[in-house]
Amino acid sequence: MQIYMPTNVYSENNCVMNHRKELAALGNKAMLVTGRHSSQANGSLEDVKHALQEEGTAYVVFDKVEENPSIETVMQARELGIQEHVDFVVGIGGGSPMDAAKAIALMVANPGEDEGILYEARELGCLPVAEVPTTAGTGSEVTPYAILTIHARRTKQSISYRIYPELALIDSRYLKTESVDTLINTTVDALAHLIESYLNANANSYNRMYSEKGLRLFAEMKDDLLQCRRFGGEPKQTLSDDVFDKLMQMSATAGMAITHTSTSLPHGLSYPVTYEMGVPHGKAVGIFLPGFLQFYQAKEDVRALLREMCFASVEDFTEYLDELLGKVEISDDLWKKDVEMIMGNQAKLKNYPYVMDAETLYKFRR
Ligand code: NAP
Ligand code: ZN
Repeated sequence: MQIYMPTNVYSENNCVMNHRKELAALGNKAMLVTGRHSSQANGSLEDVKHALQEEGTAYVVFDKVEENPSIETVMQARELGIQEHVDFVVGIGGGSPMDAAKAIALMVANPGEDEGILYEARELGCLPVAEVPTTAGTGSEVTPYAILTIHARRTKQSISYRIYPELALIDSRYLKTESVDTLINTTVDALAHLIESYLNANANSYNRMYSEKGLRLFAEMKDDLLQCRRFGGEPKQTLSDDVFDKLMQMSATAGMAITHTSTSLPHGLSYPVTYEMGVPHGKAVGIFLPGFLQFYQAKEDVRALLREMCFASVEDFTEYLDELLGKVEISDDLWKKDVEMIMGNQAKLKNYPYVMDAETLYKFRR
């Protein structure tokens, strides 16, 4: 049995300032990679700038990362990074800027190569990466994955290279500017990571330990989340600081779980739904969780997961998730293409411990 989780993780209020020396020790000049708005609104970008200024470390900001970042955006940031001689990268935001930061770090470290290296499994150098999450969903601050949109193939895929962040600086206060939809969609992404890592061909006792802990955290918060959905106002009006802390913990724990196993069928099925319909990542994954549990062969493993989450049955879980997430209508055409794509994706199928056939997979859409 083995597990490899090399990222140095700190999780506390004021985390960025508290650990500014470790952040600045990563290099001489940083590229701060963010989305367009949220990192300014929640204070995370200001905190990182302030921390680096205190340490006398230079930086340049790239703030153009879109949701589900594309290869084109990574290449645009790479130009700036080379021009500015940056030697480390800090991703600040949700999974999109955090993933982009990893891919940018790889591309800047290899200025003679083109974007083709993103999807070739080669031994290449990479700049150090630090991550500051502002959503509690992807766990990208601890995972080695970076998922990019490939427009040429009308889908998304993780790059081949595995880039473990050196440092994860987690402060749950950044979550307080989230909308209900973003908070819930991202929580469901973390929930999917916990489930897909547990029910996985690569699973062992270590990653299952992370999943069990994360699912117990989810069980403690699941009624608060439903209340937050029903109330409909800003999450900070209904959720306590303790819940925001637990959401961040659940997300990082889920990231540690998938770092060992990777994800499985719900993630694989979600990518065309996000690409073609613009459904946010966590929601697109979540709609396939009931089918995944319903048709999973090892029923005792499913029962163990339901127990951790405090649900009586898959139906109970499904009812909860439907109310939390809302439904998504996938057209017959898209669904057919989606299932065909997964049946041809050995990388995703091999994480499923049993033989999956198209007929069963078709039933995942409800
Ligand atoms: P995201 O795409 O990073 O962000 C979604 C939206 O939330 C954006 O509009 C963003 O605004 C906003 N936002 C972020 N933090 C906020 C805050 N604190 N307050 C208010 N708004 C905030 O969403 P995500 O779900 O975290 O990341 C999804 C991406 O991660 C997908 O590409 C997915 O494939 C990938 N992913 C990666 C892994 C991994 O292991 N690496 C795992 C699962 C998923 P701005 O654009 O203005 O910042
Ligand atoms: Zn995910």
